[in-house]
Amino acid sequence: MTVSQPSRLTLWRDITPYPYPLIKPHYKSPHILVIGAGVTGLIVSWVLLDKGYNVTVLSKDWTSFEQGKRLTSQIAGALWEYPPAVCGLHTDAVSLQHAKEWSMIAYHIWDGIASVPELGEAAGVRMKQSAFFFPKPVEEDPDQHEKMLEIIASGVRGFVRSPEILEKRGVGHGYDAVDAYEFMAPVIDTDKAMQWLMTLVRGKGARYITGTIDDDLVNVEGALAAQFNADAIVNASGLQSYHLAGDKTCYPLRGGLIRVINDGSDFPKVNTAMAISADAAHSENEFVFLLPRNDNTLVMGGFAEPHEWELNLTLDSPVVKKMRERCEAFLPVLKIARLDPEYPFAQGLRPSREQNVRVERESRRAGSRIVHSYGHGGSGWSFSFGCAQDVAMLVDEISKDLPPKSRSGRPYFGRADFIAVRKKNSITDNGDQKTLPASWDTFNPDFWLIEPSPEGRKR
Ligand SMILES: Cc1cc2nc3c(=O)[nH]c(=O)nc-3n(C[C@H](O)[C@H](O)[C@H](O)COP(=O)(O)OP(=O)(O)OC[C@H]3O[C@@H](n4cnc5c(N)ncnc54)[C@H](O)[C@@H]3O)c2cc1C
Repeated sequence: MTVSQPSRLTLWRDITPYPYPLIKPHYKSPHILVIGAGVTGLIVSWVLLDKGYNVTVLSKDWTSFEQGKRLTSQIAGALWEYPPAVCGLHTDAVSLQHAKEWSMIAYHIWDGIASVPELGEAAGVRMKQSAFFFPKPVEEDPDQHEKMLEIIASGVRGFVRSPEILEKRGVGHGYDAVDAYEFMAPVIDTDKAMQWLMTLVRGKGARYITGTIDDDLVNVEGALAAQFNADAIVNASGLQSYHLAGDKTCYPLRGGLIRVINDGSDFPKVNTAMAISADAAHSENEFVFLLPRNDNTLVMGGFAEPHEWELNLTLDSPVVKKMRERCEAFLPVLKIARLDPEYPFAQGLRPSREQNVRVERESRRAGSRIVHSYGHGGSGWSFSFGCAQDVAMLVDEISKDLPPKSRSGRPYFGRADFIAVRKKNSITDNGDQKTLPASWDTFNPDFWLIEPSPEGRKR
């Protein structure tokens, strides 16, 4: 298998939107188990398949159109944003720098997809003018000024900076916004995009298996590797990395979006994405986020409630009412907007993490062949292809048997614990274990016991 190391993941050169892999795997090609079928898991699978890997995706839940069953990746707006995103702060400079690089990789790929009309239509991706508003002139806020200068230099298309944007976009005079800029950004209809990604990744050869991992991956790595004949495991389980990566710094940033009809019959159709970020408004968790998501729907946001795990909000919840009032004050025509009768309110838990996104090899156990990609917060779509590129590089590293690079300089020690796997009710009287099948078409955790080996237990 040829494994290329492109400088920057590029559409048509490194990945294609065709339902077959760019580099065909052969019988010796490594096999990667990807856990999670949100945007992170599916896009990393796409990249790995086009690099010539075999891929199995194991997930608890899949893209669904049932109320309350949509994945977080479907709940997202989803607007591509230059970091930090409207809903959140970055806690460290290194992570912010990575985020910028990841976002720009994704920008160019989404742009490439949207620029082919049939492809953009199938994938649910369009480039739209996206306007960002500020409560004071951008120059008076050093962070926002720096961000604007970076955006100008970043290579995004159609940048315009003018206070006239306020009038042009119908922003209310009563609202606290005096400055604005806009540029072309990818807007993704997530239901459509997720369905498209599912079909594409399967077309490229991925195997889909429904199953739940209910232990820290370091405890079950050997078992999973044996079950799925996996040379490496990618953890893309989003917020559940709290358990799967044993990372107690993962936390939810609860958010909600009101969905209204945007067909031009009640108010002039809104065609531009519009936002006042929490940073710009110097608010911890309230912002304005208006996104024409498809031809007939506009989503209104937003808020970000840290450490709220329950999805129990309604249109009458105070935080949701306040969000609606904010949006209506910002764009007064929305006062007469009609709710989408079938799907008026979406809510989800942004998978956040104290140290922001983690794209890294597992370091708690020497010899581990796990790569993590989680903690994307409100930017999973914005970072998507960028993180996938780095995950694929780490998988390449593992498949070449290269040791992980320690971030802290701490030496790695010990050998990976092997895990005993046995089929329930298949243990013979003398305790022998039956041989596991080489490959499985279904994975039912109720049917299989996954246990730490005696050596593992001693640690
Ligand atoms: C209101 C809201 C608005 C947002 N707006 C935007 C936006 O405008 N732009 C943007 O870029 N992002 C936005 N986001 C953020 C975005 O949705 C997330 O960053 C993204 O969905 C994270 O994707 P993921 O694939 O990592 O996680 P998820 O989508 O949560 O997928 C995780 C996958 O792992 C599987 N899984 C979980 N646990 C297990 C287990 N134990 N065993 C097996 N499988 C498991 C799940 O079934 C699922 O398939 C928004 C989010 C919300 C809630």
